[in-house]
Amino acid sequence: MVDKKLQDSSAPQWPEAAQTLMALMRARGEVARLSEREQLLNSLLVSVNAVLWAFNWETRQVLYVSPAYERISGRSTDLLLSDYHQWRDSVYPDDLEHAERSLAEVLEKGAVEDREYRIITADGQVRWLSDKCFMNRQAEPGQPVIIVGIAEDITEKKQLETELQRLATTDELTESSNRRYFFECANREFEKAREQGTPLSFLMLDIDDFKAVNDTYGHQEGDNVLQRIAECGRAALRRGDVFGRIGGEEFAAVFPGCEPAVALLVAERLQREIQQLNFSHDDQTFGITISQGLTSLMAEDESLDDLYARSDAAMYEAKRQGKNRIITG
Ligand code: GH3
Ligand code: MG
Ligand code: MG
Repeated sequence: MVDKKLQDSSAPQWPEAAQTLMALMRARGEVARLSEREQLLNSLLVSVNAVLWAFNWETRQVLYVSPAYERISGRSTDLLLSDYHQWRDSVYPDDLEHAERSLAEVLEKGAVEDREYRIITADGQVRWLSDKCFMNRQAEPGQPVIIVGIAEDITEKKQLETELQRLATTDELTESSNRRYFFECANREFEKAREQGTPLSFLMLDIDDFKAVNDTYGHQEGDNVLQRIAECGRAALRRGDVFGRIGGEEFAAVFPGCEPAVALLVAERLQREIQQLNFSHDDQTFGITISQGLTSLMAEDESLDDLYARSDAAMYEAKRQGKNRIITG
């Protein structure tokens, strides 16, 4: 009320001392309002679970970093403010090049919204950050280039993604690739082989008389057999080979860049190793045999389905001829 009256030009002029006092009070009010706003901003920044930061591109100086930095990384904001290398040192080594390159991209593009990289926290944990970075404004000549960003901790989201990916691609019992993922990878290798004119072999494997294993020793023992066969299959592979469980007691493998004769050697070794496995249930011991059908990429106009059908037919021919053997087709 008093304030309003004072600003009113029709009000009588106050002595100078009184005017100074009023100006002081107004300034104090302004300071109080500013400090209130600062407190509000600070409490917001403390509660936001993302790191806000500002970086002077030319001087390589971190100008500001919000309190969440310390909470997420376990590292000191003061140290980061005094030395930019603190940030570089915290980045997961494999991701450093990408993290630095994507920061530099902000200069060209004005903004980079999907900058993801890992950091190592003070206590050695790996955490994923997703960073949105912007130029504060188009820097004019002589003005410093400031990049501002907001980095979010997406570790849990990443872990969930990895777990979902694992569930979607893996057979739970044997931890091998499931049918869908096997054929996805097989197709990729098949296309590559056709494009590059390199050899490729396709192998099908079916356990002999597996129903009898379940009937005699129980389903759980059957599951154990499936797990051990999958282990053998994976162990027989070379780098780049594809292996998966494509049915109940059926597995398949693709050998890219592998001549038919070499693929046959791999299949023969697998046949021997599986035959040598020993299973025991209560007081009984038993062994397992498998039948395999093997084929290779022959003509240019073939599809992966053709190879699959041919190796399947070869595998059934192995069954027909008395099981425990490899037939090439
Ligand atoms: P063949 O030598 O002709 O291949 O005979 P087989 O008994 O192996 O073949 P068949 O197709 O008659 O039986 C396959 C059996 O595999 C029947 C099914 O109960 C069993 N099976 C399929 N999936 C699983 C599984 O996840 N666990 C167990 N324990 N058994 C399974
Ligand atoms: Mg079968
Ligand atoms: Mg079988």
